[in-house]
Amino acid sequence: MMKSDFCLGKAKELDGKDPLKQYRGQFVIDDPSVIYLDGNSLGRLPKTTMSILENTIKRQWGADLIDSWNKDWIYKSAVIGDKIARLIGAEPGEVIISDNTSTNLFKLVTAALNYLPGRSTIVSDVFNFPSDLYILQGLIAESKNRVKLKLIGSADEITISDNEILKNLNKNTCLLTLSHVAYKSAFMYDLPKVTRMAHEAGALMLWDLSHSAGAVPIDLKSSGVDLAVGCTYKYMNGGPGAPAFLYVRKTLQKKLRPTIQGWFGEANPFTFSLNYTPDHGIRRFLTGTPPVLSLSSIEPGVDILLNAGMEQIRKKSLALSEFFIELWKDELETLGFRLASPLDYRQRGSHLSLKHDEAFRIVKALVDPSFLGKKVVPDFRTPDNIRLGFAPLYNTFEDIQSAVQKLKEIVRNRWFEKFDDTKGPVT
Ligand SMILES: *Cc1c(COP(=O)(O)O)cnc(C)c1O
Repeated sequence: MMKSDFCLGKAKELDGKDPLKQYRGQFVIDDPSVIYLDGNSLGRLPKTTMSILENTIKRQWGADLIDSWNKDWIYKSAVIGDKIARLIGAEPGEVIISDNTSTNLFKLVTAALNYLPGRSTIVSDVFNFPSDLYILQGLIAESKNRVKLKLIGSADEITISDNEILKNLNKNTCLLTLSHVAYKSAFMYDLPKVTRMAHEAGALMLWDLSHSAGAVPIDLKSSGVDLAVGCTYKYMNGGPGAPAFLYVRKTLQKKLRPTIQGWFGEANPFTFSLNYTPDHGIRRFLTGTPPVLSLSSIEPGVDILLNAGMEQIRKKSLALSEFFIELWKDELETLGFRLASPLDYRQRGSHLSLKHDEAFRIVKALVDPSFLGKKVVPDFRTPDNIRLGFAPLYNTFEDIQSAVQKLKEIVRNRWFEKFDDTKGPVT
């Protein structure tokens, strides 16, 4: 029996025993020959999202028009925020949907800087999402360089030690802001421990949960996390451009003055007072009118996650990743694929990075269905990263087996040589 047949048999067996297997059917998967391993960039479409959107458009907008604000829309940001709170270990009234992750980061970082005016350094790392770093660079320029950014590097480009973080915190640190799971290497910080280090230095802690919310159990409350932001269109399956969430610890909310003082954050927006008074809760961090259609599309994905349970999701995510790593060792390592993610599962989110000198052309061959009759969708991160996201709600062990087999055959048969190096605007 060939090795790949054996692996396929094992994959089918693992799928058969998967306690989350019924969830795949709750997503739109029209073409079974597509192996979608990019749920960490754009999650799949839940079937119920289509009827929710149809209702929002036809009944709420089409028939009920402006009445829908009072009946439903005005509450949506907080209602969905409270559901997300349950996924990330926060209390009701600590999470709200608003804007995008970048804008939310700007709002919370500027509020933190005003809250601790005697401290002027922000500490972050080179694993943070570029948009987060651009936002920080922009507000440093805006401060005329009063505010400084300390960026922590990585020796191996895969991990950063807690000690390295600790060494860079001092009495001038206002804020430590990090991605909980690094978008490239999938490295995951020890969230409680790193939060404690920030607090011991007297600084606030802000986590970007975009690559961990909906993939990894998170308990913001027991760690006393101050601030957090995150996307809803990745593991939460909220849809392209769905607005993001933000979290502010209850006891901190009243102490932070919003720096974008929009009417949706006002205590009584519909009294149209000429002078701004912030809402006393999490609503003060809203800005203006939310994109109602995209906002409505977030809830079904969150409901599925709540239903499946984050512990089960993490369990399957690790089982998928470990299966991939096992096959990588057997089939791919000798073909020039290097694992660019931590081997220790405790330090990993729900995706994996592979490096290869021909990474870009290999990705082109992966998505071309004429090879092996399957379109395998990972994503490419410059210069040589192939990123594979494992979404436990709909990915199967057979998906992993197919992806590994295709990676192997592309290199063994040098199919990548049929492609050139031109890149589109989105990779
Ligand atoms: C995807 C992602 C973002 C995206 O931010 P938007 O402003 O919502 O486009 C931000 N941070 C991290 C860590 C991400 O993974």
